[in-house]
This record gives sequence, C-alpha cells and structure tokens, in this order.
Amino acid sequence: MNNFINEEKINRILEEAENPSPEEVLKIIEKARLLKGITMEEAAVLLQCEDPSLIEKMFSAARYIKNSIYGNRLVLFAPLYIGNHCLNNCLYCGFRKDNTSLKRKRLNLDEIKQEVIALEEQGHKRLLLVAGEDPESSSIERLEKVISAIYSAKKDKGEIRRLNVNVAPLETEDFKRLHKTGIGTYQLFQETYHFDTYKEMHPEGPKSDFLWHLYAMDRAQEAGIDDVGIGVLFGLYDYKFEVLGLLNHAEHLEEKFGVGPHTISIPRVNPAHNTPLSENVPYPVSDENLRKIVAVLRLAVPYTGMILSTRESKELRNDLFDLGVSQISAGSKTNPGAYTEESRQDAEQFHLHDTRPQIEVIKDMIKKASFPSFCTACYRTGRTGKDFMDLAKPGEIKNFCLPNCILTFKEYVVDYGDDELKEMSEKVIEEEIAKIPNKNIRKKTRESLERIEAGERDIFI
Ligand code: SAM
Ligand code: SF4
Repeated sequence: MNNFINEEKINRILEEAENPSPEEVLKIIEKARLLKGITMEEAAVLLQCEDPSLIEKMFSAARYIKNSIYGNRLVLFAPLYIGNHCLNNCLYCGFRKDNTSLKRKRLNLDEIKQEVIALEEQGHKRLLLVAGEDPESSSIERLEKVISAIYSAKKDKGEIRRLNVNVAPLETEDFKRLHKTGIGTYQLFQETYHFDTYKEMHPEGPKSDFLWHLYAMDRAQEAGIDDVGIGVLFGLYDYKFEVLGLLNHAEHLEEKFGVGPHTISIPRVNPAHNTPLSENVPYPVSDENLRKIVAVLRLAVPYTGMILSTRESKELRNDLFDLGVSQISAGSKTNPGAYTEESRQDAEQFHLHDTRPQIEVIKDMIKKASFPSFCTACYRTGRTGKDFMDLAKPGEIKNFCLPNCILTFKEYVVDYGDDELKEMSEKVIEEEIAKIPNKNIRKKTRESLERIEAGERDIFI
C-alpha cells in the first residue's frame, strides 16, 4: 500500500496557482458551469483566489450547479450514537481514550431500539450509525446485531429505510459481512490528508495507522459496498490542502473502481468536553472559507452529495444549502442514549450549534425555499454506486428524485406535521409538482399523494 495522496503535487499546484489572474479564474468558473467538474489544478486556482468579486462569481456558479443537479431538495437524517468507548486518542474528540471525565456508555439492543423509535417519532427515515472504535460496540459481530435491531424497530408508521454507517474501518472480509446487513453508505473521514498532521492528531490506537484508514474505502469497495462517503475534519490543517486531498481521494476511487465517493462531509472541529485541542483549533476555518470550500467542491465534483451536520449554526447552514449541500442532519444529539434520556454534555462527542428540533428545521427550510426530503428510493431500487452515477450524470436522477421527494415529504406532513406545517405544505407541494417535466409522472405523483392521504406508505418511483 502506498500513500496515493500526492502531497508533493498538492503543494506544487497550490504554489503554482498563487495570485491567479481574473481571466484564469473566470475561465475555470465557466468550465465548471458545464457540470462536468474541474481538475485538481483548476480547483487549486479557485482556492487561491482571494478577490471578493470573483469569489461571488464562484458562489453564483455553485448555486447554479446545485440547482441544476439537485434542485432545491435537501435530504434529512439524524446520527445515532450507540457507544462512546474508544481505543483511540484522537486529540480533537471527546470520546478519546484519555478523556477520563467523559461519562462512558454502551447501549444494549433494547436501548438502541428505543432510540430508533424516538427518532422515528421525529419523522426520520434515514439514520447514520456512529460509534467510537470499541470491540464491544463496533466489531462486525456486534454491528450485525445492532443493524438488524435498528431495521426491525418499527412503531406506528415509523421505520428506518436507510441506515448509513460511520464506524472504525474493517478488514475486507468484515466489510463483506457489513454489506450483507443492508447498509446504505459506509462513511469514514480521513480527518486530515496531511501525513505529519495525521500522525500528530492520532497518537495511538488502530486509527494511528494512516494507510489503514486511507485504504478503508478501497476495502469497502472491494467488499461490494459501492456507496462510500469521505470527509475531512476542517481545522486540523490548511483547508486548501485538505480540499485537494479530498479531490485526490475521489480521483483515486474513480480510477480504481470507476466510481467516486457517493458523498463528501465537511465537518469543522467543534468544542468537545474536556478536549483542549478542540477549543484551540490549529487551523481555524472561517465561515467565509467554509462557504468557499462548499462552492469549490460543488464546482469540482458536481454529482457527489455533500453532507452538512448540526455542528454549524442555523444561519450558516441556510447559506451553505444554496451553495451545494445536498444532505443535512437535523434534531441531532451526539451522546449515546440522548434521544430517550436527557442529553448530557459530559457524555457527548462534541457540542452542536444547531439544536432546533427537526420540525423547526423543516419549517425554516421551506421558508428559505428549500424542499425537505426523506427519500431512500435509489438505494432500495439498486440505484447505487456506478449505476447511481450513470443516472445522475446526465441529469436523469431528477426524474426520480423530485416525485420521490414530494411523496416522502407528504408522508412526513401527514404522520408528524403540526397544523402550521400542514398549511405550509400544500403550497410547496403544488409548486414542486409543477416542476416535474413529464406529464405522466406528474399524474402518477398526484395519485400517489392521494394514496398516502388514504394511509398507504412507502410509495416510490
Ligand atoms: N470513531 C470512528 C472514527 O473516528 O472514524 C467513527 C465515528 S467518529 C465518532 C465520527 C467523526 O466525528 C470523526 O470522523 C470526526 O471527524 C468527528 N469528530 C470528532 N471530534 C470532533 C469535534 N470535536 N468536532 C467535530 N467533529 C468531530
Ligand atoms: Fe474514537 Fe472516532 Fe473519537 Fe477518534 S474520532 S476518539 S476514533 S470516536
């Protein structure tokens, strides 16, 4: 295994791209508007551009791309923490082994089911399973039992239809077993692509092995998991290097497996209980630079989903939706058991900035002209990995996404909405139906909405 993150190349292209001319920047922005992506070298030029009027043009191209490919849809999910024990000592994380003042907890299968039901009662259909690296919580034997418990936890109209997983990387054989459990995306963040910083931030435990972590997505792909999600924890090293690291990783996966990452996550370090580094971030990323990160990624890999968590404030989240984010968490908690018990800071991984309940997030989204979706149709009809990308690339995915998004939103409104949301929903649903290009699909969508009103669930196209 070699380190395919070419640090020498990343540093060189960043240096060569310093002080770009306005013509060069504008040419790259124009190319990006063709929705075919841009190269690492071109992304470096955009990252090095500091001219506010050109950055505004980048933002406007990012909004155009977001709107052309994803429309105003945003998919919602929530994280489900099953345990906060950890073998590693990542300097930024509240779960790190040396954090003796953290209240440790592992949920048993019954407690996990209770958490799932509490999340279903908020209307969630997609969850992200999260755990520290801990043989009792995140071994494959345990994960098989946990995942089966999550999918079987159903109450009233509630059910989990897609479970994504963010746990420590596995051996290929164990990834094969994970694939068989029926998960959606396997997510893992490299945290930093800069080797020396990685070593410094991960001083002990299995995660201290940079290459083991870096090759996790190769092993997952080899095991048949073709939706993989990568990410960086912004704040550990220079953000420009990290964005190019993400693109380098995406190129590697594309070359080797014919499909890039399904999603990219863009967390910034948040303060964590008794975790000094998280309060004193080595390379802080400003809100403005986070906007730039989202825009450059949207221009570079237009068809890769982008995930934003509740680590960010409500105001910034609203801005980032337009610039390219396609999936968001809502109503989240980061300590195991928090959805059924009182949430406690001395057990959580890090503190959150957007603590609104999911229904408030949804109402605010609608007020800002975003459309909430709980859709899981692609994955359940086998449109994953390369099949998804082949459909997504020519813009075809719109024919499926829009009606499915409307139908899952309608389910949410009927089952979990209050009077205010019910009233708001009528107008937006009509507006969205009008955007469906195909007359027959429009008709089918209307019929399906009536079936949902009559009590039928899980209708998708
Ligand atoms: N333990 C596994 C791992 O580290 O890959 C998977 C789950 S870990 C709980 C999920 C992610 O939380 C990490 O990849 C890291 O990026 C993020 N994280 C840890 N500490 C954080 C902090 N203080 N602020 C924001 N995100 C943090
Ligand atoms: Fe453990 Fe993950 Fe936190 Fe590191 S980031 S201490 S591996 S939970």
